[in-house]
Amino acid sequence: MSRPVLAVGALGGTIASTPSAAGGSAVVPTAGAAELAAAVPGLADLAAVRATTLARLPSPSLAETDLLGALAWARAEVGAGAQGVVLTQGTDTLEESAFLLDLLWDSPVPLVLTGAMRAADAAGADGPANLLTAARVALAPASAGRGVLVALAEQVHAARWVSKTDSMAPAAFASPSFGPVGRCVETEVRYAAPPPRRAAALAVPGDRAPAARRPRVPLVATHLGDDGFVLGSLDLAGVDAVVVAGLGAGHVSTAMADVVGQVAAVVPVVVATRTGAGPTARATYGYPGAELDLLDRGVLGAGWLPPVKARLLLWALALTGPLDRGRVAAALAEHGAP
Ligand code: ASP
Repeated sequence: MSRPVLAVGALGGTIASTPSAAGGSAVVPTAGAAELAAAVPGLADLAAVRATTLARLPSPSLAETDLLGALAWARAEVGAGAQGVVLTQGTDTLEESAFLLDLLWDSPVPLVLTGAMRAADAAGADGPANLLTAARVALAPASAGRGVLVALAEQVHAARWVSKTDSMAPAAFASPSFGPVGRCVETEVRYAAPPPRRAAALAVPGDRAPAARRPRVPLVATHLGDDGFVLGSLDLAGVDAVVVAGLGAGHVSTAMADVVGQVAAVVPVVVATRTGAGPTARATYGYPGAELDLLDRGVLGAGWLPPVKARLLLWALALTGPLDRGRVAAALAEHGAP
């Protein structure tokens, strides 16, 4: 029986890391996609693998444009007949890559991201198991039409809800607001519910060429005692929009609220919650700096999107034209809610 075609692309990260030539035990990304695929017992029985090394980067050094390149590669693989696509990368920014790709992925073919918490040569390396899980998820008929998925530790997460929630633990990923969407048990991929309604994919100008101008969407985290110093120091020339990682349900201090209002008079400002789960409020708190005050000042709430994902939504939106409050509000309504 002919095997399905699985495209495997590699961007680097711990899954591809081995001790550096400089000696010692510190690891750096070295392995390419073919080596990663070859290290997975049983993968060759499951699929005819087409392996492509896209980069060998630690994921903190990936940029949005690297993901646009990966998107073009994944689309080309689907165009050439791949029945599933897996992308490996570092876990540090995996949730961001997955979300950005999900905004742009317009195919029913599954695109599944995975990585590892232990390097390729470590005792109990999780990379091969995660890659096998990702392959099974990518090839499962039940994964079709679910957009971009993240498969690690035998769980399947929706790109929109997944976060890295532990810096070092082997089980480092969770979907704090809604939980994982599926599990991989033995060889089977199981989902608790049918695919959700998906918003239309955002456009990418020029399939392969990254945008001529890279959008600039700073993310500013607020904190106890913040008087708006960092936000107020931004040079807004060339800034498309600003995201504030707000307290609780999307709040800032009284002093910061004035600065937020001044910035919102110049560029769209979105306030998200820094808590890691749950939405921004819309109609609960009335003190200065709370959501009702910020909404009055022209700020938009990120809803269920955490700060980094709200930032990426605005970044992707800015690829296709200048941002204004109306465009941002419509995009948040479409992509920010379950
Ligand atoms: N610790 C990271 C990883 O899990 C390093 C990176 O993100 O590249 O891959």
